[in-house]
Amino acid sequence: MISERDKARYPFTTEAADYVKKLRIEIDDLITDPYKPILKRAEERIRQALLKPDDLAPQEQDPSIEILSFPTAIMLMACIDNENVKRRYAVAESKGFSKKLKDESLEKVIGIAQGTFDWNIKSKGQNLRETYEIFLHFIDYIKNIKNMNDLKWKLTNRYLKDGYVEITKNEAARLIEEEVQSKILEKTKRKIEPPKALKEILETIKQITMEKPVFDTFDTPSGIKVENMPPCIKKLFDTLSAGGRLSHLGRFTLTSFLVNAGATEEDVMNFFKSASDFDENKTKYQIEHISGRKGGKTKYKPPKCDTLKTHGLCFSPDEICNRIAHPLTYYRLKIKALKK
Ligand code: SF4
Repeated sequence: MISERDKARYPFTTEAADYVKKLRIEIDDLITDPYKPILKRAEERIRQALLKPDDLAPQEQDPSIEILSFPTAIMLMACIDNENVKRRYAVAESKGFSKKLKDESLEKVIGIAQGTFDWNIKSKGQNLRETYEIFLHFIDYIKNIKNMNDLKWKLTNRYLKDGYVEITKNEAARLIEEEVQSKILEKTKRKIEPPKALKEILETIKQITMEKPVFDTFDTPSGIKVENMPPCIKKLFDTLSAGGRLSHLGRFTLTSFLVNAGATEEDVMNFFKSASDFDENKTKYQIEHISGRKGGKTKYKPPKCDTLKTHGLCFSPDEICNRIAHPLTYYRLKIKALKK
């Protein structure tokens, strides 16, 4: 059983969702006086997530407003026609939850993982290694590490016993963050017709999404023309600039593309700062090696289209794609065509 306070702090849980369901609130109710505070708090949630993600803090005076503001904010985001903004919102909310979960007891973290995500997870008990307090079944573990770039998450680098991976409480909170993020993304992706009753607030949300900090949190490397990028590179670029994560090959492809398209190492470094799992030393190492300044002194090119297709990284190819075999050729062709 989780408390009212917990439902307000973790409104993604099954218990919070059941609470919302029982109230049977309709969209039109939200603009009536008794429910207006919910709409107001939902707007504030979105504003904080998009403009000040590091300061995300729950409003704790009235748990029911806090619980209801979460699905309301998600419904509002589903009406916004901008995938990057939706991703940014999902990343900020899920990160905020995992930050709070790290301060919770082991029992609470395990309880939320079992009750809401149906994880096969258990406490290790007393007599085992101290820091690794939890065993998580490898199926649940693998499902949630696909966006992690750090080698420590690789299954081959973990202690595995009878199908269970040993993890810390903080790592469990980090994996719950992945679950919450995909859940929010999945729900905000559903196209819903903006309800007439919410016209005014949706206008306000649209204004928030156009405020400078939402788009200024990443610096496009100078000299790079985003509009000339092939669809695959644009997709990687958009994902990262919206705070999303890339696979190892995705990062390599984007970095080598930018380096070969003329961006300086410093510009690429600044751009990668917008990545949600940014690690300065690791990113510096990768950029220096890909650009050929360190290591084997070879400047790496991005993989060919065939390789990107094999790895599921070719997205929405257009008619120029039919004439080329390499993403850099696409970029150069487009620049040439525009010059003409
Ligand atoms: S065909 Fe090549 S350039 Fe075009 S989207 Fe696919 S991988 Fe990218």
